[in-house]
Parts: sequence; C-alpha cells; structure tokens
Amino acid sequence: MNNYMEEALLWSREGKKIRCFLCAYNCLIAEGESGVCKVRVNEKGSLKSKSYGKVIGTKINNIEKMPLYHFFPGAQALFIKSNGNNFDWDEGRTDKIKGDPATPEDVVKMVNKKKIRIIALSGNEPTMFFEFAYKLARVAKRYNIKTVLSTNGYITSEGIKKIGKYLDAVNVKFVGSGDNELYKKYLDAPDSSPIFHALKNFKKHRVFIEITNTIIPHYGDNEDAYRRLTDWVVNNLDSSVPFHLMDFKPNDKLRSVPVPAKTLEHFANEAQRVGLRFPYIHGEVEPEYETTFCYNCMQPMIVRDHGLVSKISLEKDRCPGCGFKLNLVLE
Ligand code: SF4
Repeated sequence: MNNYMEEALLWSREGKKIRCFLCAYNCLIAEGESGVCKVRVNEKGSLKSKSYGKVIGTKINNIEKMPLYHFFPGAQALFIKSNGNNFDWDEGRTDKIKGDPATPEDVVKMVNKKKIRIIALSGNEPTMFFEFAYKLARVAKRYNIKTVLSTNGYITSEGIKKIGKYLDAVNVKFVGSGDNELYKKYLDAPDSSPIFHALKNFKKHRVFIEITNTIIPHYGDNEDAYRRLTDWVVNNLDSSVPFHLMDFKPNDKLRSVPVPAKTLEHFANEAQRVGLRFPYIHGEVEPEYETTFCYNCMQPMIVRDHGLVSKISLEKDRCPGCGFKLNLVLE
C-alpha cells in the first residue's frame, strides 16, 4: 500500500461509513475498505486518496493529442498521468500505486522552466487524483498556466463546482455514443446519464468543451445512440462544440476489429447533418476530416496532418476571408 495518503475532498460520514461524492458511483465505504475505484480509502473514519502526489509520467506533446483542436491550436502541453480509474475499462481499476512523488508546485516549476503554458491531465481518469488536480489547477492559475482534463465525465456536480473555476478546458470522452447497455456490460458503470449532467455543469462553469466519441464495431456503433448523443450536444451545449470520432483501441475487456474509415466518415457526415459544425476523425483519414473550415465560407482555417497542425490561417479567432467568428480559444 502507498505509504503517503492525502485526506480526500468531497465526502461525508454516514454512521460508521463514508459516502464519497466525487464521482457518480457515490460509494458508501466501510472502515478499512476502498471505493469502486480502489484509490479512495476509508482510513479510520476519514477518506484518503492513495493516488495523491504520484505522477506516473510527464510528457511534452501537442495539445491536439488530448485531443483539443480548438484550444490553443498547435501549442505544446505537459501531459501528466497518475493512478486510478473508476470505470472498469482501459487499464482498469487497480490499487497498485505507481509513479514518482511530485507536488503541484513541482509540476508548475517544470512547465515554467520549459516555457509551456498548458498542463494536460490525461492518460488515466483525472478525477481519480482529484485533490492533486485541484491544487495543481489552483497553483497553475496564479502563473497564468492553463489546466485541461481528458475525462470520462463521471465527475459529480460537486466535483465540478469545486474545480470548475480553475479549469480551462475539458475533453469529455464517450464510448460507443454513451450507449447504456455498453456502459453497464463492459465499463461496469450503472448508466451514462451522469456524463450528460457533467457536460451541462462544465458549460455552466464556463469550461471550454470538446467531446470525443469512440466507435467500436458491433459493440459501440449503434446509430440510434449516436443520433441521441449528437442531437443532445446540439440542443444542450452548442453546435460549435468540436466533436472527435475515434477508432477503438482494444483493451483487456474488449477485443475488436478496427473501425473501417468509411464508418467513421459516415458518422462524421451524420454529425454534420444534425448540425454539429466541427466533427473530426482521428486516424488514417482524408485531410478534410481533420481540417477546421470556416463554417460560413468553408475556407480551411486550421490544417492538420495526422492530428498535428500544419497551417493556421486566422485573424485572431476569425476567418480572414469573411470575418466569421469561430469557436476557438487563443492566446
Ligand atoms: S471516486 Fe472512487 S470512491 Fe469516490 S464515488 Fe467514485 S468510485 Fe467511489
């Protein structure tokens, strides 16, 4: 077991047990036990985070890798990963804590030294090291460094209320368009509705939003679920929310064949048909599926090659041809 644990945020006592309200599992945890995620533990009547202050990897990469396509396009970010997952998916849940000790101040010093202006919490679910993310985002804000998250969206409204004012952008990742059966069967998540609540909350707290949807042939390519998701984004967020379509990378839970490019193109075209202005495809695709076009005059504004920016033609956040304002966050 990790020999250093930080007192967790967002919990209360219920008799001899503890209720955690960081994520939508809302675990009730008996003394000596951990929540579903295995990284939050009831230790003698207090909730402790086992993942606090352990950084598995830091890597400098372009912000497009997140993916964030409309937030400081072409900028570099320091990507940080820690421990823990609440969904039984990707690397799964584990109580094995890895990584090197680091404080939020250490991370901010590192980005300042490298003259990077963005910290990207990605790789595992950043909610699982919420206390560290929260403190890091607060310190970073003091230095005008942006903090962005790649999250599965299972964070509660209390969690977003706490961290929202220090966050600059999120990419909220759906699997199989948020199909409830898929979430129950393969992710061990009760249902996908908390993700929609989280998106509304991020919007309320003015956190810049992009969305990723991973398509899984046969298991997560349901057209009705996809239509519900895209309609919901248009009706509840904004038709200008960048919408990324990803091929599924097989994990321990699910093996699958690659998604044919034609399927992803079909989904991107469908997104456009229901009103989403900026659908993107990741992978081996025709350049038009990774280019940002002016929605008004259809001139290419940001051209990408394999997800990396190769050309930007903008006047601030507007099209230099027709002056149309795009949904972009720039310096
Ligand atoms: S963060 Fe962990 S302990 Fe807390 S509610 Fe979610 S799964 Fe349960």
